[in-house]
Amino acid sequence: MTTSNKPTVIITGASSGVGLQAARALAEKGWFVIMACRNLEKTHKAAKEVGIAIQNYQAFYLDLASFPSVRKFVEDFRATGRKLDALVCNAAVYYPLLKEPVRNEDGYEISVATNHLGHFLLCNLMLGDLQQSGNPQPRLVILGTVTANPKELGGKIPIPAPPDLGDLEGFKQGFKAPISMIDGKKFKSGKAYKDSKLCNMLTMKELHRRYHQSTGIILSALYPGCVANTALFRNHYSLFQKIFPLFQKNITGGYVTEELSGERVAMVVADPEYNVSGVYWSWGNRQQEGRKSFVQEVSDEASDTDKAKLLWDLSKQLVGLN
Ligand code: NAP
Repeated sequence: MTTSNKPTVIITGASSGVGLQAARALAEKGWFVIMACRNLEKTHKAAKEVGIAIQNYQAFYLDLASFPSVRKFVEDFRATGRKLDALVCNAAVYYPLLKEPVRNEDGYEISVATNHLGHFLLCNLMLGDLQQSGNPQPRLVILGTVTANPKELGGKIPIPAPPDLGDLEGFKQGFKAPISMIDGKKFKSGKAYKDSKLCNMLTMKELHRRYHQSTGIILSALYPGCVANTALFRNHYSLFQKIFPLFQKNITGGYVTEELSGERVAMVVADPEYNVSGVYWSWGNRQQEGRKSFVQEVSDEASDTDKAKLLWDLSKQLVGLN
């Protein structure tokens, strides 16, 4: 297969961790990978380190925290003339120790801006590209996490607080200073991350309700396991960064290597058995050799269709979508 007739996937945040390994695994499955990243030098270096051949990928600049950058990325991709078979919303930031919110250029709290709003805009802009791919069942896959899903054991830890968007009062009021949380309440950095990942799940469900039947796009999410030593935890205490992987390996049994997490993403993107829309895939919180994936139930809040619609409408306003 030549590079031009390979199926094409865009992966956000493919410069490290789960996204990088997903890029490697998809390239090995015969896909052409667009690595959509905010540090291109790092991305090329990382691609080389994991053995992604130069003819199997292209790296494009994308800063999800900047909505003009998201729009420019879409233009840059379209200029390649490639058809888009799959989009993976993977990038994320996690700042568990911040006492005061960091904000993007629009004044929005950075983890919600990056993890939810940037991806929300990207998904909306790229639905048409997926639909026009010529692929009968293009896929849009979003990374979810156990900590944002109280239906799972790993999501029951109330530190600093469980995910909860309330009635989205913070979004209703414009989400700018002094507001920093979607529920409009006091800033809690770890909760801001959980809330942003809950938004990812609500977005996937709402995309499915709005577009699956009319476009044929398969919209799904997955929890790849606890990849406890990725750079996601770089802003945590150094002691936590040492202990957390050991805890996940030896106590909870939830630990998954970066390589395996990437292979799981690649399966959900490319394998025929994942051709199901509107679902959240998991291999469980405790890893077991040979365990098959299953459709994980999501929390009552993530299943709330009224909340999903409200989140959709308010997110559209915040990112400037008509
Ligand atoms: P990671 O190694 O830190 O990777 C995050 C990626 O996102 C990096 O490539 C990073 O780029 C990129 N990124 C951050 N901010 C960005 C921005 N503004 N614009 C574009 N890219 C940006 O973390 P990871 O553990 O692989 O996490 C990947 C996904 O898996 C996340 O959605 C996370 O919620 C999910 N997940 C992770 C785990 C886990 O245990 N690690 C578990 C469940 C779900 P830089 O390299 O430039 O920083």
